[in-house]
Parts: sequence; C-alpha cells; structure tokens
Amino acid sequence: MSDAAIQSKARGGRSIRYRLLAIALLPFLVVVPLLLALVIGRLNTKFDALLITKVNGDLTIAHQYFARILENTSDHIRGLGDSAAFRAVAAENSKPELADWLEQSRRELGLDFLNILEDDGRLLATAPQTGEARSRRDWPVIVSAMAGTPSTAVDIFAAEELAAISPALAQRAKVELVPTANAAPTDRTAETRGMVVHSASPIQLADGRKAVLVGGVLLNRNLVFIDTINDLVYRQASLPEGSQGTATLFLDDVRISTNVRLFEGRRALGTRVSLAVRQAVLGEGRTWLDSAFVVNDWYISAYEPIRDSLGKRVGMLYVGFLETPFRREKLITLATIIGAFLLVTALSVPIFLRWARAIFKPLEQMTDTISRVEGGDLDARTNLPAARDEIGRVATHLDGLLDRLQARDRQLRNWNEELNKRVAERTSELEAANKELELTTKQLIMSEKLAAIGEITAGVAHEINNPVAVIQGNLDVVRQVFGGQVELASTEFRLIDEQIHRIEDIVTRLLQFARPEEFAGYVERHSPREVVGHCLPLVQHLLNRGEIDLIADHRATGLVLMNRTELLQVLVNLIVNAIHSMPAGGTLTLRDFDEERHGTPGIVIEVADTGVGMDRETLVRIFDPFFTTKRSEGTGLGLSISQKLILRQNGAISAESQPGSGTCFSIWLPQAL
Ligand code: ADP
Ligand code: MG
Repeated sequence: MSDAAIQSKARGGRSIRYRLLAIALLPFLVVVPLLLALVIGRLNTKFDALLITKVNGDLTIAHQYFARILENTSDHIRGLGDSAAFRAVAAENSKPELADWLEQSRRELGLDFLNILEDDGRLLATAPQTGEARSRRDWPVIVSAMAGTPSTAVDIFAAEELAAISPALAQRAKVELVPTANAAPTDRTAETRGMVVHSASPIQLADGRKAVLVGGVLLNRNLVFIDTINDLVYRQASLPEGSQGTATLFLDDVRISTNVRLFEGRRALGTRVSLAVRQAVLGEGRTWLDSAFVVNDWYISAYEPIRDSLGKRVGMLYVGFLETPFRREKLITLATIIGAFLLVTALSVPIFLRWARAIFKPLEQMTDTISRVEGGDLDARTNLPAARDEIGRVATHLDGLLDRLQARDRQLRNWNEELNKRVAERTSELEAANKELELTTKQLIMSEKLAAIGEITAGVAHEINNPVAVIQGNLDVVRQVFGGQVELASTEFRLIDEQIHRIEDIVTRLLQFARPEEFAGYVERHSPREVVGHCLPLVQHLLNRGEIDLIADHRATGLVLMNRTELLQVLVNLIVNAIHSMPAGGTLTLRDFDEERHGTPGIVIEVADTGVGMDRETLVRIFDPFFTTKRSEGTGLGLSISQKLILRQNGAISAESQPGSGTCFSIWLPQAL
C-alpha cells in the first residue's frame, strides 16, 4: 500500500474518533449552551421587565407623596381658616395684627406666601408683606374657594406674579438653562416662571363677609421637597450597591428641582429632558417607563405629566435609578453561569475523552499493527487481552488473519529461495559448459591455425630445399674444377658452406615443426643425469664465451622415456635461451628430481638462469610458434617445438620468470617403468 493510502487511512481513523467524540459531546456542547442561551435570554427580558415594574412602583410612591403634599397644604390652609386663633384675630379687626398672625402662620406651615383675598379681589392682608392692594382672583383654586369649596392644585406663576409676592421669591424661582444634548431646541436662556403648590380655602371675616385664605409653596429649587421624595422612594438598601436613586421635578422640560448631579456637588438644575421624553410625556400625556440617558448616565426612568389647575400639562415628575449596577449584576450572573458551564465542560471533557479512548485504543492499536505489517514487520500483532467486545473480537480475528498471511508469506519465500537456488545451479552448470565450449573452440582454432601454418611451412621448406641442393651441388662442382686454386678463396668457400648448413638447419627445424611425426624416432629410457651430461659439450663454447657459472644438481632416481635426440634438442634449446638471457654473465642451474603428478610418478628437469627475465605479456606468448624477441638470430620456433615434443610424451613444460632476476623452465616427464 502506498504512503498516501496509509495516511488517508490514519486520517480516516482519526475522523471516526472525532465523530464518536462529537456524538458524545454534542448534547453537552451544543444543546446545553442553546438551552442556556434561551434561559439567559428569557431571564434578561424578565429582569428588564422587573426593573421597569420597579421604577413604575417608585413613580407611584413619588406620585402619592406629591399628592400628599398638595393634600397637606390644603389641610393646613383649611385648618388655619377654621382655627379659633384666626377667628380671634379676625374679631379684633386690626390689620397689622392680622398681618402679623398671617406671617407667623406662614412660617409655621413652611409656606412661601399666605394671603387673605376678599371677594372683590382686594388683598386684606399678605405674608410676606407687599405693597400690593389687589390680586388675581381668576385662578381656578380661588374661584372654587370663593364658591365655598377649598381647592388645591399646581399652578405656574409668571415671573411678575412671583415678584409681586416677593422679589426674593422671583429670584429663587429663576433657573438658568444649561445647554443639554438631545433636548428640544430653545432660544430661552432661563426659566423664570415658578411652579407653585397653590391652595385656597373659604373663610368668613369678623363682619360676616366672605373671603379666601390663599397659600402656596414654590417648588423651584425646593430641594427639601425633592430630597424627601428621593429618600422616601429610595430608602436605604432599596437599591443594589453603587446604584443611585434620583427624583426630579420639571417645569415644562426644565429641571427646576432635582437631586441628579451635573458633576461633583452641583445639581443639574436648568438642564432639560430629551426631546423624545418631552414629546411622549408633555406632548401626548403618556407615562414614560424605560431606560433613558439622564444628564450623564443611563437610568431606568419613569416620567409622568403634572397638570395645573386648568388641566394643562405644565411639568413632569421623574424618578429613576442608575442602570449600570443592575447591568453589572446581570453581567456577573451571566458570566457566572457561562463560567460554571465552561468549568463543568472542562472537567467533563477529559472524562469523556478517557471513555472514548477506551474505545479508540484497540482501533488505533489495530491500525498500528496493520501499518507495521505493511512496513514489513510480519510478526506485528495487536494481542488484545481478551475479546471483551466487538472491537476486541475484530482485533483477535485480524491477528488470526495476519498469522495465516505470515504462514503464506513464509511458504512463498521458501519456494522462492528454492527456485533461486535451482536457477543458480543451472546457471553455474551452463557457465561451466560454456567455459569448456570456449576452451574447446580455442583449442580447435589453435589446431586449425597450427595445421595451416604447418602446411605452409612444409611447402616453403621443400621449396627452399631444392635450390639449396642445387647450390650445394654446384659448389662441389666448382671445387673440383678449381682444384688447388680453391685454397685462394678458402675463407669464402667456408662461409658459403656455413650459410648453406644454416639454411639446411632452419629448413629441418621448420619441417620438424610442421610434421613432427615424420621426425619421431624410437623411444628409450634415459637417466636425466646422463642426457644433461651429453648436452653440456654441445653448448660448452657458448658457456665459455660469457662468464657463466654452472651448477648441476642431480637427485632424480628414476628414468625418463623419450627419444634421445628429441630430449637433447629440448634441453639444448632451454640452455641456449638461458645463456642468451645472460649476456653479462650469471649462473646457470641444471636440476633434476622425482615428482609425482596426478598420481603418476615422474621426473622434473629444471633449467634456471639469473638473466633478464620476462614480463607477463612475453611469458604468455613464449610457446607460440615464431614468437621471438631476438630480431635476427631468433626463429621463435625453439620453445614451440620443445613443447610439442614434451606433450607428445604426455609430459608438461612451464616457465616462471621475474623481469630483471631470472627465469626457471621446468620439464616434467612420466617415469619410465
Ligand atoms: P628464439 O630463441 O629463437 O627467440 P624460442 O622459442 O627459443 O625462440 O624463444 C622464444 C622467446 O622466449 C625468446 O625470444 C625469448 O624472448 C624468450 N625466452 C626464452 N627463454 C628465455 C630465457 N631463459 N630468458 C629470457 N627469455 C627467454
Ligand atoms: Mg631459442
């Protein structure tokens, strides 16, 4: 199997592992987060709704408190009008005393003004004291009181009206506008009007005339009022830590009394409500319940319109609390839930993984086994302890299959080896046969060659013999003709005779080479010592010419069987060659001894010199006919003929040589019985 295939298989194994893991973890990692998201989403909505409900409740409390203020003021004014003290002062009918009493009552009740208004619009007395003689009597509360019913409402007093009561009051009412983002655009720079809790109650003067007791509280900058609302609505610990309750009274869209801070310590008086809130509450008369950006932070807010005695929407009452701490609590809760989930996941995933591994491990071991087998390790097995489950059984089965595979493999290998062995045997047999064939071919070619050379040589020798015979005959004739005068050219005649002999000698040798059988003489038994002894006189003149020492060592005990002339010829050949190889002198050694070869007893005759020796190339060619290194003197036939003669006697001839140190020829001949 290719590497790529193995890899894809490994990947396949992994993918199964991940698929199983996914199946195990899916409910946990997908369904639980989904459920969590659902629950969190719902909780979030509910939480927001709860916040709105709470702020709505807060607004209700503020509203009731505001109504209580109106009621209280109404009660105070009515109580004052009905009081014995008033009747006593009224009975005195003294204006200064009435004014004193009025001022004292105003202070006691915390009112900003307290007047007695007569039926015709004249002011009987005012507190604080003003120079005014008359006053408006068309306020609905006053009209109602004139008609005999006490009445209390919120009314907006113009700046002049406030100034008429007291310049200080007008001054207190004035609120400089602060530019506010998102508010409705305006050209005004200050709110000079005053929002007043206006209460009137009918009274009867000492003389029986009807009059009205009119009192009011200015709400502009009335911080006691707004702080009381705030304290009431957001009592200590009614909000989470860090949150802050706020309450505000708006005249139109301007904050005239608030505990919202603009920055450190300074209240956000003069800032205005956003256009959206203004339109919803003042424009459409709705109650606003929502998250809103108030001055500089997000608040869960509730606004409701305030109507004046004519039923006109003239301002708003607001309560709210900072959203951030709630949001933070919400986020902390959310983070806790998610964190808990992640923690549980982190703790449980390893457990899942461990369970999963118990399933994958055998699978992976099997994959490993397979890849090891593929890598060549046929002994690899999974070897699971016991077939506990399906996978275990598969592993056992796989091991069984592998066993069989290995057995088959072994069988195949054995067959293969045997086959190889047979092929090798056949090949070597063939090689041997080939070699033999080659040798035979070579021998055949050689004998063919020799036969051809012999044929030519024999022809040439005969052709030369005839002219030589003619020359010899004629020379004898010349000798007879010249008689005694021959002596005059005796040297020349001797030279001619010598050369003719030489030619005859060469021709005889050539014929001996070409047709050795014609020259074969009868075979006798000879002692090597005796034959060598006969050789020496033949070569004595050559030995004498060079300074050559002779060593003879005869140890052979047996006799050799060979034609005497031929053996002499062979030995003379070898001795002459040896002498030729030592032009500067040396030692010639002639040695004979018994030696058995291939179970045949025989005798070795050695001819050794200390001459020039031969290199390998020369050595392998010396038995070739006509091979010579001696240009003019040599015929190259000496060794060739010698070999032929020795071989004919079933002997052997060989040479060993070292260039520069000498050569040793040895002849082996079977022993004569
Ligand atoms: P020839 O003597 O006519 O050259 P041979 O057949 O006798 O022919 O010898 C062949 C050649 O073998 C010689 O020419 C010579 O080179 C070499 N040879 C034979 N005997 C010896 C020797 N003893 N030392 C060195 N060379 C030899
Ligand atoms: Mg020779």
